[in-house]
Amino acid sequence: MIAVAIDGPAGAGKSTIAKKASEQLGFIYVDTGAIYRAVALACIDRNISIDDLDSVEGLISGLDIRIIFFNGEQHILLNDTDVSERIREENVSMAASRVSAIPQVRSFLLDLQRDFAKRDNVIMDGRDIGTVVLPNAQVKIFLTASPEVRARRRLLQLEEKGVKADFDKILFDIVQRDFNDTNRKTAPLKPAENSITVDTTDMTLDEAVGKIVGIIKEQTI
Ligand code: C5P
Repeated sequence: MIAVAIDGPAGAGKSTIAKKASEQLGFIYVDTGAIYRAVALACIDRNISIDDLDSVEGLISGLDIRIIFFNGEQHILLNDTDVSERIREENVSMAASRVSAIPQVRSFLLDLQRDFAKRDNVIMDGRDIGTVVLPNAQVKIFLTASPEVRARRRLLQLEEKGVKADFDKILFDIVQRDFNDTNRKTAPLKPAENSITVDTTDMTLDEAVGKIVGIIKEQTI
């Protein structure tokens, strides 16, 4: 099996690029942020404060989180309900960043992620894929871009969906999430050893996809 780990900060284009690259290569694409988002959504829905570690721990032990593929699209099931749309809401992003700093949450989600790489060729994206989840991945990429460009892309995505958003607020949230993800004690965001850093600040989407597919082909032939 071939495993490709793509890590990087929020909004670097990981999911869009990884999805297109996996289509070209015939790999399964797994977006691991979705499962942290699902845990965060469960906390929000049940009114559980993320600072209340005992309650979060109690909650996760009873959670059934599953990733399924439907017409090639990843869907996330939380106790049998498809929450793929709801986990993208803005309040869930910050809650996911906070809940993902809890070591018990991370270890609870580890096997779920690793199981995919046992069954299929995968491109998996997240924050700790190359460092913790799949340390033996054949290809490790650290995908990044300037915070301003990441915020601008996110704004465009939201505008395309007809959602009104404010650039400064998006930028603030991105910087805050990066800070949380980089400075947490467990599995912080950082380039894995032997990873290749790709900065997409000045690249178009097609250029970035071409670059990533090129690296994967080069490293797996
Ligand atoms: O990638 P996405 O922005 O959807 O991830 C949401 C949050 O989940 C991130 O801000 C990060 O805190 C957390 N996450 C993580 N480890 C991963 C994937 C996501 O900690 N492998």
